[in-house]
Parts: sequence; structure tokens; C-alpha cells
Amino acid sequence: MEYQCRICKLHYTDKKLADACYAWCSTHEGTCNLQITKKSIEAQSGK
Ligand SMILES: [Zn+2]
Repeated sequence: MEYQCRICKLHYTDKKLADACYAWCSTHEGTCNLQITKKSIEAQSGK
């Protein structure tokens, strides 16, 4: 199961991470939180 942040479109395997990313993105528009985004599926895949 994958969860997607609706704002930055990154995917997470953990809903809590997707929720945290969404919460961050909704209040810090245009600025990614590396602590969260580095756990995304995209980041984990090394792309
Ligand atoms: Zn996000």
C-alpha cells in the first residue's frame, strides 16, 4: 500500500509519513522537509 502526499506528490509506505508530509507541505508551501521527503519511495529508490 502506498500513500501519496497530495501536495508534493511524493509517495510513502507509511500513512503517518504521508500525513506528516501533507501537514508540512500545507504549511510550508514550496519548501520540502528533507527529514520527511528522504523517507519517500522516490528517495528510497535512489532516483
Ligand atoms: Zn508533501
